[in-house]
Amino acid sequence: MQRERVADNVYYFQSDNYAQVTAGAIVGPNWAAVIDTLALPEESLQIRDFIEQELKLPIRYVINTHYHADHSWGNCFFPGATVIAHTLCRQQLIAVGQESLIEARKQNPNLRRVKLVLPHLTFDESYLILRVGKKTLSMFPLPGPCTDNIGILVEEDRVLFAGDAFMPLPYIVDGNIDDMTISLKKIGKMGLENIVPGHGDIVLRGEIDGSIKENLSYLSAIRKIVRKASRRKYPNDILSEYGVEDCGKSRVLIGGLAEELHKRNLRALYRHLYGEVPRSSPHDGDYEEDEEEFEEEEE
Ligand SMILES: [Zn+2]
Repeated sequence: MQRERVADNVYYFQSDNYAQVTAGAIVGPNWAAVIDTLALPEESLQIRDFIEQELKLPIRYVINTHYHADHSWGNCFFPGATVIAHTLCRQQLIAVGQESLIEARKQNPNLRRVKLVLPHLTFDESYLILRVGKKTLSMFPLPGPCTDNIGILVEEDRVLFAGDAFMPLPYIVDGNIDDMTISLKKIGKMGLENIVPGHGDIVLRGEIDGSIKENLSYLSAIRKIVRKASRRKYPNDILSEYGVEDCGKSRVLIGGLAEELHKRNLRALYRHLYGEVPRSSPHDGDYEEDEEEFEEEEE
């Protein structure tokens, strides 16, 4: 796990093990608040050790930016803390959390140590303010990657913990491209010093405008591809033609997962917009009933 100081009493952690997922901590004179937990139990425990052993402070709050496993399954390793999140985060964890945890434990027995802890304190519209020492944390809805995502702004430092509303590659499979676009534009207008993305490295002041623009243009690129695909008989063939680099993003992003996440984005967007799974052309060995009715593709 990487650890960095973002501003006075504001820390950032990044996983070495899974998709460069991040977490944070805001430290006051008497106690600390943690923002998100990491994917594996040992990494969440490293955050706790750092605050409890090195800084010698108790952790009073854990804020979940959203319900995804890699951000919220470490709540149980902060047993004394009150967990804060969007109301929808609590609802999602109730709806799908336990089932996904049982599935995930089959792949990774280490996750037997994980017990879901639901948020104790929730808000939905508007915002919630938490004061940690001299710092003011304002939490507000920032949907896009999923409906429950929130941002946490450390007002005095203009540091935004964006959850997955900001990533090196926007990921919309569980969310909505329109919400993501609105959230990115909102982040761009906030006058920030730093963005701590849900995955990846801290974005510095001088990089913010460029990276917002790049993410917005990625979203319009995938919209265009999906629209083009929708005019074809076998839309999935068109979707497969466009890699992440054709949309202005590098393959090495998010620990090398970028190409895979991009593929999922295209298929999910197609499903959202057209209400069906994009069809592929039948390959050799596949027998489809309408195989003989070959259709000329119009350009
Ligand atoms: Zn995430």
